[in-house]
Amino acid sequence: MPIQQSLSIIKPDATKRNLTGKINAKIEDAGLRIVAQKRVKWKQAEARKFYAVHKDRPFYKDLVKFMTSGPIVMQVLEGNNAVSKYRKIMGATNPKEADKGTIRADFAQDIERNSVHGSDSAENAAKEIKLCFKKAEIVG
Ligand code: UDP
Ligand code: MG
Repeated sequence: MPIQQSLSIIKPDATKRNLTGKINAKIEDAGLRIVAQKRVKWKQAEARKFYAVHKDRPFYKDLVKFMTSGPIVMQVLEGNNAVSKYRKIMGATNPKEADKGTIRADFAQDIERNSVHGSDSAENAAKEIKLCFKKAEIVG
């Protein structure tokens, strides 16, 4: 299995409810390593750029508003098949459809306030990591 990296974000709904540690425990229990982590508050322009792929979707404006509403924790996760492994432990976008025991099933509030972001492909992971971290901030 290939060692991969994925970009994770703990979203404002989760930092607000003090869930960073509980989410990190699920990440580490799944065998992924948190090799970079920083807590920041996004400006509108940063959120718009990160979610530019969704700019024509009806939820884009609200999503940018939500993602700039409070602190977020950006992370680089590393491990075997990190991209698909993290998607699996995150659970479905809509927490009502998320498998039992996943981060979103346990913590998400609704389809928007769904506690975490995770890259959806190795290609997008590389782009997102580059957007969020300097090389020197990632320590494997
Ligand atoms: N989102 C939303 N309404 C929707 C779909 C998505 O508010 O109908 C938000 C939600 O926070 C989601 C993010 O937009 O996590 C990005 O959507 P995507 O389809 O990429 O879902 P993800 O990859 O996060 O599961
Ligand atoms: Mg996505």
